[in-house]
Amino acid sequence: TAKSRGGNQFIFYKPELNDNAQDILALENDLRRALQNNEIEVFYQPQVDANTLVPTGSEALVRWRHPSRGIIPPGIFIPIAESTGMIIEIGKFVLETAVKDTETWHSLGYSELHIGINLSSRQFTQSNLMELVQHVVTNTTLPAHFIDLEITESLAMSNAETNINILNGLKAIGASLSIDDFGTGYSSLAYLHSFPIDTIKIDRSFVINLDTKEGQAIAKTILAMADSLKLSVVAEGIETKEQQAFLQSHNCNILQGYKFGKPMPKDEFTVWLQKYNTL
Ligand code: C2E
Ligand code: MG
Ligand code: MG
Ligand code: MG
Repeated sequence: TAKSRGGNQFIFYKPELNDNAQDILALENDLRRALQNNEIEVFYQPQVDANTLVPTGSEALVRWRHPSRGIIPPGIFIPIAESTGMIIEIGKFVLETAVKDTETWHSLGYSELHIGINLSSRQFTQSNLMELVQHVVTNTTLPAHFIDLEITESLAMSNAETNINILNGLKAIGASLSIDDFGTGYSSLAYLHSFPIDTIKIDRSFVINLDTKEGQAIAKTILAMADSLKLSVVAEGIETKEQQAFLQSHNCNILQGYKFGKPMPKDEFTVWLQKYNTL
């Protein structure tokens, strides 16, 4: 296809990237069979209430268990899936699987758990996204508002007028909407407020910088503005108790990071829920 030719041109013009580009072509071929070979898995990373530390849900994070290369992270294969269009099928699988698994946790009594689903650019602009989400909502007992659809700030801003329409459609189905990687794009929080969103997710790069005065000032500004705009805030990438304490004392709503749990397979997340202690 023209898209995979694009990969070949890369080899042609950037000989130093040969191995890398060949790797990508090999992965692209393997990825075509990954879904049917059951190599695509959904991992779940816990999110907890910043005040009570009670679990509020999880984010679905896709993994590819490659037969010879081991687990391949999404940062490597999502761009390939995106450029080849395979993201549509993979994204459908992630959405359906994550909603089904969250329905199971609800039936076990964890009936307040949300599920965060990442939508890539191509998924977000596909013509039948609305039908897919409606189909999933119709076929689950999970109330739609527990499904948090995440799009990145840069995607949201890339075609703002069209995107507002898509977001309104998803909102009408009853889903919740989040802006992911907030702070890495070029929007003002005030402008984002014209979007029908519920939540912003502060990017991990800001959490890492909380050990500097400047980083703290930026985080405080984001949190104060989100608060005044009545947006819920999730901070991602919390690894230390200092980061946790700072975010708690500045009205962050939900915390996500290795401090509470790494992304894990479904059964491990069930065990995490059973063993997790807020103390
Ligand atoms: P994201 O949506 O911003 O997800 C958060 C990423 O931060 C995850 O990386 C997660 O493992 C990582 N993370 C969370 N807490 C910590 C921490 O305390 N320390 C460190 N070092 N990392 C932490 P992951 O799973 O590698 O995913 C990377 C990106 O790939 C995601 O960023 C998202 O943009 C994309 N992605 C993941 N799953 C999917 C999917 O199902 N569909 C699409 N379209 N994209 C996905
Ligand atoms: Mg995300
Ligand atoms: Mg993020
Ligand atoms: Mg991120």
